[in-house]
Amino acid sequence: MIIKKFSAAGFRNIEKCSIEFSEGLNLLHGMNAQGKTNALEGIYVFARGRSFRAREDKELVRFGSDGFNLKIEYSDKNGEQSLEYSLYGRERLRKKNGYRLKGVSEMLGSFRAVLFYPDNLEIVKGGPDERRDFLNIAISQCYPEYVKYYSSYKKALENRNCLLKAAQKGLFADENEIYSWSYVMAEYASFIYIMRDEYVERIKPHSSRIMSEISSGKEKMDIEYSSDIPAGIKDRTKVKEEYVRVFTSSIDREKSAGVSLYGPHRDDLLIKINGNNSRIYASQGQQRSLVLALKLSEGEVIKDICGEYPIYLFDDVLSELDAGRREYVLKGLEGKQIIITSCESEEYENLGARIIEVTEGDYVSAYRQ
Ligand code: ATP
Ligand code: MG
Repeated sequence: MIIKKFSAAGFRNIEKCSIEFSEGLNLLHGMNAQGKTNALEGIYVFARGRSFRAREDKELVRFGSDGFNLKIEYSDKNGEQSLEYSLYGRERLRKKNGYRLKGVSEMLGSFRAVLFYPDNLEIVKGGPDERRDFLNIAISQCYPEYVKYYSSYKKALENRNCLLKAAQKGLFADENEIYSWSYVMAEYASFIYIMRDEYVERIKPHSSRIMSEISSGKEKMDIEYSSDIPAGIKDRTKVKEEYVRVFTSSIDREKSAGVSLYGPHRDDLLIKINGNNSRIYASQGQQRSLVLALKLSEGEVIKDICGEYPIYLFDDVLSELDAGRREYVLKGLEGKQIIITSCESEEYENLGARIIEVTEGDYVSAYRQ
């Protein structure tokens, strides 16, 4: 997959822009607060369905503007494609190749990108929600239907939690309703489990190989999906039965807690380094390597499932890696398209990158053919 052009209007500090990219390495270069990350954010909206750093889309609207419009032109194994996303007032519009899409789930799975930015270190350092987010975002790019299962699960969970909360407060909560929501949750949870389990199995061999390569064979990385389902169950109906059992056998305890204590919303992804939990034992350098290994593996799994590599968006992270790891990444990604941001340009000029100078939301390509 190759992105050829990104255009935006009224987005963040961008009044209007059109940036062309080369195959291979591209650098968005400029001083702080000029709009480097804003461009990556705009591109990644098409992969994730929404911004990776704004809570609400209205934060993305340029101050004083009445809305924004984003467009990418790219090519994939089926040919030339375009995606558009705009928000003006309450009017939200998504288009693929000029045709209106019904919603975000129709947009997902078309354009795929791996984003690596400094906060991603939280995947190792942070709580389980960071690791679930990693899985959710990665899986939804390969299997867009995952998003529907997940949002249906969350709705059922909210309903069940409302009843449990009422019970905790001593208010009336229909026992039959709690059971019904347990069955609904089990149905969607079983799909989520199967997809997460398969995804983790796919990413495992890549991440341990990459970690071993980064560390010249010194560090062993292992990942493990942690859920309420005993390992080894691969049949969805059996998984569903297991969830029904878990959800219906814990209702008394959940009434005292006022919340659902089991299910995919409590899952975790255990990341181990040399056999130990990396959240507790990994050094800073090891944490960085582990996240790097996960991110590069995410790209490999996209290739395995979808048949082509994604675009790699690296926000300010390469400069934080030591020279050896930086070289490993750039070598490993040779032949793939990368867009990186940095305040430094010298090293990338030497690597033949297309340099795009970023100043106050203006993007000028310094590259001449
Ligand atoms: P750094 O090197 O510090 O990471 P950057 O070039 O990546 O900088 P961005 O995060 O892309 O910087 O852009 C930040 C700029 O965009 C800031 O000046 C910020 O005030 C501005 N900005 C963010 N949101 C909006 C908005 N909705 N309207 C106008 N300007 C905005
Ligand atoms: Mg930035």
